[in-house]
Amino acid sequence: TQSDPRTRELLDRRHHTLGRHSPLFYSEPLELVRGRGVWVEDSAGHRYLDAYNNVPHVGHAHPEVARAVHEQMQRLALHTRYLNENILDYAEQLLATFDPGLDRVAFSNSGSEANELALRIARQHTGARGVLVSDWSYHGTTSALAEVTTALAAGEPFADHARRLRIPDATGLDAAATADLLEAALREVDEAVASLQEAGHGVALVVVDSLFTTEGLVRVPAGYVDGLARRVRAAGGLVVSDEVQAGFGRTGTSMWGYQEHGIVPDLVTLGKPMGNGHPLGGTVLGADLLEEFGARNEYFNTFGGNPVSAAAGRAVLEVMRTEGLRERAAALAPVLQEGLHALAAATPGIGAVRGQGLFQGVDFVDPATGAPDGETARAVVEGMRRAGVLISRIGRDGNVLKIRPPLAIAQDDVRTLLDRLTEVSARVSGGEVAARA
Ligand code: PMP
Repeated sequence: TQSDPRTRELLDRRHHTLGRHSPLFYSEPLELVRGRGVWVEDSAGHRYLDAYNNVPHVGHAHPEVARAVHEQMQRLALHTRYLNENILDYAEQLLATFDPGLDRVAFSNSGSEANELALRIARQHTGARGVLVSDWSYHGTTSALAEVTTALAAGEPFADHARRLRIPDATGLDAAATADLLEAALREVDEAVASLQEAGHGVALVVVDSLFTTEGLVRVPAGYVDGLARRVRAAGGLVVSDEVQAGFGRTGTSMWGYQEHGIVPDLVTLGKPMGNGHPLGGTVLGADLLEEFGARNEYFNTFGGNPVSAAAGRAVLEVMRTEGLRERAAALAPVLQEGLHALAAATPGIGAVRGQGLFQGVDFVDPATGAPDGETARAVVEGMRRAGVLISRIGRDGNVLKIRPPLAIAQDDVRTLLDRLTEVSARVSGGEVAARA
């Protein structure tokens, strides 16, 4: 379908440099050339509503973030082994958003590095190697993470020292069935813990994506994450909340996704939205844990928290505060949710709407059998691109629409998103887009 000569040329050059498997969205890939707020423009001048990206968290090309980075870049851009006030201002502001006890941060450049460091710290602290992860999760690119990753890294054998947990989904269940599900899921945690101990690995940590995003925004029974954390700690392990997707006010009701579960983790890992497009990651933890690790290892990260990155991170927090973006997420979430629920009620192929704040998932299922329908979700994502709205899909079966706009989205944009989704879903259900895709 790539009839456009420019797209063909870019794809050809890409294949000859980055390889054929370098991932791209869409059967007709997009060449985006500029953005502002929640709108992006392609090289042909078409505009798209960005309802997918959390990297441009406070909005594409935000002038305050651009100014902060530009000014610092002109003054001094260096590594992190000199005193610099940017990193201190930023660290203080960032740590003030966490619960007491989470009062130190080690900066890095990506979510992968943040998780890799959490893994090292937990292993050294516990003396154990064992890792618990969900059975459909992604936490990063390093070899230690790839071997405990259950999505996107099929080339890497799953580690002997790791166990995968099925994450319980209480969508549509009544109270009694939810209680049964919770009990069974926690029993599975007990079994995984026992299995790691019997094999001699012990339990170093569990890594939990606070909104279970890769998994498809699973709606876990209340008490599941708390019960999981208690079991891991009872076995001597640490709890890591991966906030790469869930964090920075996305849920609207909390700054951090773990707060939705009523727990305080031992380590929190940060990435994507942190620098609004500038590469920035962080591992947040308690003073004792960092002291213990620091006494044995010099963790020197050349670029992590350098003056330019720190300026970007600080600008993101400042814009969030001055523009009230978490509050905006809280205010707009019901508009988005209600619109999606209305669409679901009118569309037999939509099984459920799940998620929190400005992170919503729409389940496509076969109306006759209830089986996941990734093909229809794919056609909807493609149809939305043609209708000028960017979204994606998640879940093991790729049947859950992933709607995760920058927090800079306005109510009118939410309406536009809902209108387009209603039109495209109707066309896809009618077979039109599916036939063309
Ligand atoms: N954790 C989660 C939950 C992620 O979604 C990702 C990236 N998709 C990562 C970690 C890794 O982050 P990065 O790509 O910045 O290394």
